[in-house]
Amino acid sequence: VIQIENVSFRYGTQNVLEKVNLTIEQGSFLGLAGPNGSGKSTLIKIILGFETPDMGRVTLFHVPVSKFKNWEKIGYVSQKANSFNTGFPATVYEVVSMGLYGKIGLFRFLNKKHKKKIDETLQLVGMREFKHRSIGELSGGQQQRVFIARALVSEPEVLILDEPTVGVDTQSVQQFYHLMSHLNREKKITLLLVTHDIGAMTKYVTHVACLNKRLHFHGSSHDFEESELSSLYGHDVTMITH
Ligand code: ATP
Ligand code: MG
Repeated sequence: VIQIENVSFRYGTQNVLEKVNLTIEQGSFLGLAGPNGSGKSTLIKIILGFETPDMGRVTLFHVPVSKFKNWEKIGYVSQKANSFNTGFPATVYEVVSMGLYGKIGLFRFLNKKHKKKIDETLQLVGMREFKHRSIGELSGGQQQRVFIARALVSEPEVLILDEPTVGVDTQSVQQFYHLMSHLNREKKITLLLVTHDIGAMTKYVTHVACLNKRLHFHGSSHDFEESELSSLYGHDVTMITH
């Protein structure tokens, strides 16, 4: 569903991505890893059309990004989604409802069906009882779940998450991965997950990609070995083997 062909990108004179080729197949769950500053978020921004590559091309559902219109098919949770300060006035319900406005238009009233969908989505991420709480009162991990619900409420076919587990406790990280597996297997959502928790990730993903300006590894999670990453990160990376 996402095809990245020969993409190069620079900020000013700094090369950030060099000739990246990556295909994300429908139904797959791809974990994208790489050290800080390796270009992961930049690659996501290019996929979403926020940045234009200097070379190469990206197609979404076989359509070049610049011509792509069905953005409701793609859900996105940004790297900074959970950094709202306390005191942000919107309720959980309001934040999740924002995810529908792309589909139904801003300032339209939500009908019964929409409201039911919001409830179901909150249930799915385990945040239904927080529906009327102000988002600013929630913990970072809880806010993260709300932003995942906002991305999911419009029923996207692809979900892209940029480091959603940063600052999330170990148990909630496990819950997060179970939710992602459920979305991937049962709801047939294609997932692209940027993460540093290699150990946790490799147990759940179907494919792994390692980026450091260039793509150093891309393949099935079964063919992935920690040595691929150790060389990228410059230190040992411990994996939980399955
Ligand atoms: P992290 O794991 O820390 O999130 P990342 O792999 O997502 O890192 P990017 O955010 O893609 O890395 O950044 C890649 C490089 O591009 C970095 O060296 C960064 O300093 C640079 N960069 C990112 N955004 C900009 C910008 N808006 N202007 C100039 N340089 C930028
Ligand atoms: Mg990043």
